Amino acid sequence: MNIVLIGQIASGKGTLSQNLQEEYGFEPISIGLLLRRETEKDTPEAKAIEDCLTRGVLVSDDLALKVLKKHLDTIGDKNIIFDGYPRNLSQAKNLFEIARIDKVIFLDVDESVIRDRFLGRRECNKCGFVSNINNDDYTPTCHRCGGTFAKRGDNNEDAMISKMKSFACDTLPVIEFFRDRGLLCSVDAGRNAEYTMEQVREIIKDI
Ligand SMILES: [Zn+2]
Repeated sequence: MNIVLIGQIASGKGTLSQNLQEEYGFEPISIGLLLRRETEKDTPEAKAIEDCLTRGVLVSDDLALKVLKKHLDTIGDKNIIFDGYPRNLSQAKNLFEIARIDKVIFLDVDESVIRDRFLGRRECNKCGFVSNINNDDYTPTCHRCGGTFAKRGDNNEDAMISKMKSFACDTLPVIEFFRDRGLLCSVDAGRNAEYTMEQVREIIKDI
């Protein structure tokens, strides 16, 4: 079973992916990681990626797709999660061509919830534990290690708005693309990770 996860920042995509890995043994596929791993090999693709890195340009969709296809050919019938890919319509069309997609799960969250989650996020300066000032049990001191919670550099209004804009512009067409093909399942991801997971269990049990 192959699943694509789509969601805004702070929609709980990372946690859902983690839960699917633990509970069902899904294997996450990260294009960034595949590209980095490819550079350790002696292949024409590795050279092309190195070239992009040296020139400081993004790896083209075609090249990324080639590397992805090679990887898919090697993993047999494992259950896969595509997380953070496809990000735009052209990537979605490409992925749809080369891989079997069983379900596309869209983590639907209200903008006000995203705002609270994203801007309220705090990270422990010692152990990296993540908390949120909007949690009922939030304290400025980390309960795990006694460290102090602080805002990460990119947890600001400007970064949030720019991420929301690129989601609306690039990723909403991806959602429509999969909806048109009858693959889209929306889940209410505005409550908590367990509630999200409950809905996803219902979706994947029929596959
Ligand atoms: Zn800590």
